[in-house]
Amino acid sequence: MNNISEVLEGVHSVGIGGHVRPDGDCVGSCMALYLYLKKWYPKIHTDIYLEDPKEQFSYLEGFREIRKACTEPVIYDLFITCDVSSRDRIGVAGECFDTAKRTVCIDHHISNFGFAEVNHVVGDASSASEVLYALLDKDKVDQAIATAVYTGIIHDTGVFQYQNTNPETLFVAGELMKKGVPFSRIIDESFYQKTYIQNQVMGRVLAESIMLLDGKCIAGWIRYKDMEFYGVEGKDLDGIVSQLRLTEGVEAAIFFYENEPQCYKVSLRSNGVVDVSKVAVYFGGGGHIRAAGCNMNGSVYDVINNILEQIEKQL
Ligand code: AMP
Ligand code: MN
Ligand code: MN
Repeated sequence: MNNISEVLEGVHSVGIGGHVRPDGDCVGSCMALYLYLKKWYPKIHTDIYLEDPKEQFSYLEGFREIRKACTEPVIYDLFITCDVSSRDRIGVAGECFDTAKRTVCIDHHISNFGFAEVNHVVGDASSASEVLYALLDKDKVDQAIATAVYTGIIHDTGVFQYQNTNPETLFVAGELMKKGVPFSRIIDESFYQKTYIQNQVMGRVLAESIMLLDGKCIAGWIRYKDMEFYGVEGKDLDGIVSQLRLTEGVEAAIFFYENEPQCYKVSLRSNGVVDVSKVAVYFGGGGHIRAAGCNMNGSVYDVINNILEQIEKQL
């Protein structure tokens, strides 16, 4: 695909959906596409589905129009996913994806083997937002659309910090800046800012973390009862694994929280030597070389031991 217009011919209705627990790139890419279609294809009826997106993204235009569930069965002419690496990651809009007449997937996960009819996956792009931007007419990208794309890029690159940042990413960011994106505010409010409680929880996880494999690996976790005590949910814990990764000498960082008794959402981060995507895929998850995730069951020590075994193989 060279331009999004290629898949829009004869289309009267479009559904857009991201992945479960939508992150900044997921929200940014889906919202950018939504705003673009609403503005430039007003005759197409467009809906957007995202599972409970974080309030910190509420500065995005159209944020309140996001549908948080597939309440009535709608058959779309076309369903487009952004930042979704496999069918089982679609979440709230899964049904609409299955019943749509055509499906398109716009993504950047190396673990994505293509689950839609048209799969536009650029494995070396920083973010799904950058992949999407390449498919848009640049003169049709207004400030609101640019703000959504910029949000996605800064979240998946850790504000241009991670290895997935490349010259093209910075070029695109420059073009978006020309559109008047309020970049300082976005970076502060959507990326770095934490609530007092979030900081407290991060502090506790860091204090209780353990170093493993001669200091090459670090693990931190939080149990369900402690999440209840602080009144936090999974989405409040973003950023903890990134901080663990920044520990001197560490090659791989593991962070997991207990979704329900003995069920954990695991996040993995690498400083380059370990391909954590391989580890996550081994346990039924996926992601990128330096950032991946999966779901696991058992005790805290089962999770650590099982993951450690896979990481050790790569060290
Ligand atoms: P997270 O640790 O949740 O921030 O996720 C890091 C990366 O791994 C993201 O790009 C996710 O899309 C991917 N990922 C996380 N969890 C899973 C999972 N259960 N299955 C597939 N990919 C995942
Ligand atoms: Mn994502
Ligand atoms: Mn992404």
